[in-house]
Amino acid sequence: LSLSVCAAAPTDDSVAMGYPRPCEVAVIGAGAAGLVAGRELLREGHKVVVFEKGESVGGTWVYSPSVESDQLGLDPCRKIVHSSLYQSLRVNIPRECMGFFDYPFVPRPSNKERDSRRFPQHREVLLYLQDFAREFELKGLVRFGTEVFDVHLLDEGRWMVRSRKVRMGGCDDAVADESEVFDAIVVCNGHFTEPRIAEIPGIEVWPGKQIHSHNYRVPEPFQDQVVVLIGSSVSAFDISRDICAFAKEVHLLSRSAPDKQLMSKQPGYDNVWLHSMIERAHADGTVAFRDGSSVRADIILHCTGYKYDFPFLKVNDIVTVDDNCVGPLYKHIFPPLLAPWLSFIGLPWRVILFPLCEMQSKWVACVLSGRLALPSQEEMMMDVEDFHSKLDAAGLPKHYTHNMSDYQFDYVDKLATVCGHPAVEEWRKQMLDMTMKNKGSHPDSYRDEWDDHSLVLQAYEDFHRYCK
Ligand code: FAD
Repeated sequence: LSLSVCAAAPTDDSVAMGYPRPCEVAVIGAGAAGLVAGRELLREGHKVVVFEKGESVGGTWVYSPSVESDQLGLDPCRKIVHSSLYQSLRVNIPRECMGFFDYPFVPRPSNKERDSRRFPQHREVLLYLQDFAREFELKGLVRFGTEVFDVHLLDEGRWMVRSRKVRMGGCDDAVADESEVFDAIVVCNGHFTEPRIAEIPGIEVWPGKQIHSHNYRVPEPFQDQVVVLIGSSVSAFDISRDICAFAKEVHLLSRSAPDKQLMSKQPGYDNVWLHSMIERAHADGTVAFRDGSSVRADIILHCTGYKYDFPFLKVNDIVTVDDNCVGPLYKHIFPPLLAPWLSFIGLPWRVILFPLCEMQSKWVACVLSGRLALPSQEEMMMDVEDFHSKLDAAGLPKHYTHNMSDYQFDYVDKLATVCGHPAVEEWRKQMLDMTMKNKGSHPDSYRDEWDDHSLVLQAYEDFHRYCK
């Protein structure tokens, strides 16, 4: 799927009309998306408040050893832990690609805390985001420990934002509501917290334990267990490698494994087996697979992804989430009927998210200030419909709406053109491509062995412009 032209253009009469027009903007979330949105909005002259329910910046990258009271993540009143990181996690794309355009993710002056590897462990990303917040003086914008629980439109077209101070606890732990009015809302609340669960016939009578990867931290609790692991993402692969050192058996399921193919051992592993999907779970603890085999399992681990969720947004169905498609959204950002006063940053997946969020944020900031214009509501709506027709024609399911793996650079380049920013660097595009190939052929070692050295050199030549 290619992206049609981004129909935003500089307005000729912007100066005459007194632009740029500063707005009061509420940003929800201080992860990578919220931080870069805050920076771009500030640069464009807006007045910004970033609401963050956690105690620090970094979002997903703030590792917590805690898990939720309902480890499957279905109980709406469970104590929610935002981050889905597991302890061993190392990034899955090289740091040169991952960083923001003008604040490269390079190894910082060494001290024991820093991890200078190309694919560092998760804490290095958190430290990078903290550095970013410090460098651009963003922390002053953030209201920490403040959860937004209600956002709705007022009659005069502005937004009411209701928030409450949160002690780190469950539904009952919130205190002291506050209500404030803003011109615009930028939603940056992340989408790796609300678990999606696989549907398994017979699961209601199966007596074992179910966990979603959101609540996976360390492998030790899986000692001597027989584990059925559903999913084929990077996390599923990493977690299977983590737990097979402790578990008695790990049975990996993949949608792509043909039903007729008999279960097979994962090459190089004595206790890891590959299967097609689950046929049925039984009351005696057995899990039967479509390949005809079955095991008596102790744990089913769902590495089945996440759902978009905006529980605070009360916009009368102008924006809905249907089968993990948020819409209607113009260019995955603006709901046409509420543009530009409501926007979403960072919804795309299978992308390099930080630079994509950076470019989305630049666009939102410039549209809010009036320096760039959006097409009419009708034109935006037609663009959205056209996009969905192309998805249908390509035979892609609705929940692939925000999957940009095939065209992320095209998308970012078009936003960049509109915003007057250089396109994505050629080395970044090639480096991602080579990393994906290396990962495919060397899934166990791609983080430590590679041969894109010339691209790394090109990246660092570019970075000299930004690194002091
Ligand atoms: P988040 O980081 O989730 O931040 C959202 C913030 O919003 C949080 O701080 C949250 O507390 C806050 N918030 C939510 N709701 C409210 C509310 N109502 N009121 C106030 N605050 C609220 N990306 C990569 O580039 N490379 C990787 O290697 C990589 N690995 C990953 C591994 C895992 C296991 C996961 C889950 C994700 C990974 N990602 C990776 C993707 C990662 O999520 C993004 O890189 C990025 O951090 C997402 O940023 P975000 O700001 O959109 O969301």
